[in-house]
Amino acid sequence: MPKYGDQNYKQADFINHELIGEILTKTEVVTESQIASVIEKAKHRNGLSYEDIAIILQATNPNHLKMIYNLAAEIKQSIYGNRVVLFAPLYVSNYCVNNCVYCGYKRDNKFARRKLTEPEIREEVRILESMGHKRIALEAGEDPVNCDIDYIVDTLRIIYDEVSENSNIRRANVNIASTTIENYEKLKAAGIGTYILFQETYHKPTYEKMHPKSLKGDYEYHLTAFDRAMQGGLDDVGAGVLFGLSDYRFEVLALMMHNAHLESNHGVGFHTISVPRLKKAEGMELKEYDHLIDDDTFKKIVAILRIAVPFTGIILSTRETKEIRNELLHHGVSQLSAGSCTGVGGYKENEMEEEIKQFTISDERSPLEVIKGLINDGFIPSHCTSCYRMGRTGDRFMSLAKTGAIQHVCQPNALMTLKEYALDFGDEELKASVDGFIESQIEKIQRDDIKSKVIQGLSDLTDGKRDIYL
Ligand code: SAM
Repeated sequence: MPKYGDQNYKQADFINHELIGEILTKTEVVTESQIASVIEKAKHRNGLSYEDIAIILQATNPNHLKMIYNLAAEIKQSIYGNRVVLFAPLYVSNYCVNNCVYCGYKRDNKFARRKLTEPEIREEVRILESMGHKRIALEAGEDPVNCDIDYIVDTLRIIYDEVSENSNIRRANVNIASTTIENYEKLKAAGIGTYILFQETYHKPTYEKMHPKSLKGDYEYHLTAFDRAMQGGLDDVGAGVLFGLSDYRFEVLALMMHNAHLESNHGVGFHTISVPRLKKAEGMELKEYDHLIDDDTFKKIVAILRIAVPFTGIILSTRETKEIRNELLHHGVSQLSAGSCTGVGGYKENEMEEEIKQFTISDERSPLEVIKGLINDGFIPSHCTSCYRMGRTGDRFMSLAKTGAIQHVCQPNALMTLKEYALDFGDEELKASVDGFIESQIEKIQRDDIKSKVIQGLSDLTDGKRDIYL
């Protein structure tokens, strides 16, 4: 197969629509024993073929589903342990030149557009910091004039610079439109964490229908964004599909092909996969979409992604309800947003109903409530941002994940950031219960040297030190 950059390489060939079509037709009807044998194969953790994935996506038998969920839970536990990383989105600009049919920010929606000024960015950041957040995902619509790369880079500088009394944003991931290598180099220089871009749909005819007459309408340019990002030096990229636009089985196989393409051409696949489901937004009605997926199918997709790409983080946003989020944490999700606002300036104005949001959210709990809920369910809420600050990105992160060594930093850092959070932002209830919880988790750390580092770190935190990590 020609490699990216070769003369004969046709940019977007790697999402082979014909091959996906053939696999989907071949696996339209599958037997129970075919499904059972793929589940058996998956248990050996030696990778699954596209056809295998298409086969287990057809599982409906409750016993098979239970086996898939259990395997996903085992894989998640063995690689990431029970920590769950928390973050919040920060919307800085709703100017948009695109007309994405499904999006509340589309240019046909007439409302007063705006982008945050420096004092407004600082205010939003202070509010996020007062919630205890250390990690954000910067979000903006696409508008090369009103929201150019220099605005984004400047916003990143302000975000990192705005330090509150006992908190600061330590990792800013960025979710902005597909752009040039030069602009990705600028994001790299600005110190971003993951560059996130959702393909929305990999199905080219649907993509073109959903993104009419716009910059974003160029399927190839959007699809090859991660190639340019990696050429620009960004080695952590986060993919996503907006489930509901096209056939979910097509999307899952295409996601796998995209991941394989990055692995073979750049040496590392997706750092994360986000799994947004289509929600009601201004100027669109859900009933116009034929491929919406129900909760059971959604759970199955998440569990199968966890099995298919064990080392890739899976992110769930507040588009989903508390109940679904709790359940999916067991089946593969490793990162959650919490306390989110999806409007520009939304943290300050979240009580003003007229504000235009990009889409509606379903989990309205505060970060503190989310954190208490996680602890109750035996998960360690984590505000860890250490990997990229320690240079554990791209293939370096992946090799640690693949050997299981990542656990030696994930769990300790999760515990230390939880303690820091409880000291600075916990209420009486959390403060009273957190130490017992942390002690019970320290017991599970196997290496004595790491145990002692955590115990020392916890004591330093109590003494007033902050931002301790391995
Ligand atoms: N403008 C950037 C781009 O083009 O990629 C960032 C996009 S936006 C801030 C983040 C994501 O929200 C989109 O990629 C899309 O998947 C999602 N989104 C848009 N409309 C949505 C809806 N109605 N329901 C759920 N998610 C939606």
